[in-house]
Amino acid sequence: MEAEQLRRDIVSACRRLAQSTLGSGTSGNISARDLETGLVGLSPSAMDYAAITPEDVVLMTLQGDTVDARRRPSSEWLMHLHCYRCRPDIQALVHTHSPAATAVAVLGRPLPAVHYMLALSGNHEIPLAPYHRFGSEALAQAAVEAMGEGRACLLANHGVLAGGDSIRAAWTLAEQIEYCADVYLRASAAGEPVLLSKAEMREVEAHFGSYTPQGD
Ligand code: 13P
Ligand code: ZN
Repeated sequence: MEAEQLRRDIVSACRRLAQSTLGSGTSGNISARDLETGLVGLSPSAMDYAAITPEDVVLMTLQGDTVDARRRPSSEWLMHLHCYRCRPDIQALVHTHSPAATAVAVLGRPLPAVHYMLALSGNHEIPLAPYHRFGSEALAQAAVEAMGEGRACLLANHGVLAGGDSIRAAWTLAEQIEYCADVYLRASAAGEPVLLSKAEMREVEAHFGSYTPQGD
C-alpha cells in the first residue's frame, strides 16, 4: 500500500470515529501499518477528527522515528508501535473511549463471553489491562500483555484497544466490543448474565471462517 493510500484510509476511519457513538471529542486514535515499507501511519494528537486531512496523518518507523509529520502523532504512539513490534499479525489498531466498553473497564472487570461475537477478538473474553496514565510506556506494555494472543483488550478507567489485519477489521472489532459491553451492562442491570462456555466459544471460532463479507 502506498503511503498516500494509508493516509487516506486513516482519515476515513477518523471521520467515521467522529460520526459514530464510539467517539467523543478528540478521544481515541487510529493507526495502520504499511506492509511494504513497514511504516506506521498514526492519527494526529488532539485534532478534530471531522476536520483532519491526509497531510495531518503522521508516518513513523516501528522504532519511533518520525518520517513525515506536519502534526504531533497521537499521544498513544508508544502503545500503537509497541503493539506492531510485538504482533506481526496486527496491521491496524483502533483505540476508543466508547461508553459501554469504558464502563466495564471502570468496573475493573474483563468483558466476559456474553455474546458469540466476542469470538472475533481471538479470545473468549476481552481482557482488562491495569490502569496506567494515557500515553505512558507502562500503558503500552500493559495493553499488549493483556491482549495475549487475542486482538483486543479493555484499558482500566480509560477505554478499549482493538486490532486486526486491516482498519476495517479493527473497526468492526471495536464496534462489536462496544455492542457486547452494552449488552453485558443491560443484562447485568436486569439479572445475572448467562455466559457462553469455552466449548461454545471454540465452536463459534471454528465456524467464523465461513462468515465472510459479501457485496463489496
Ligand atoms: P490523542 O488525541 O493524542 O490521540 O489522544 C486521545 C486518547 O484517546 C489518549 O488516550
Ligand atoms: Zn484514550
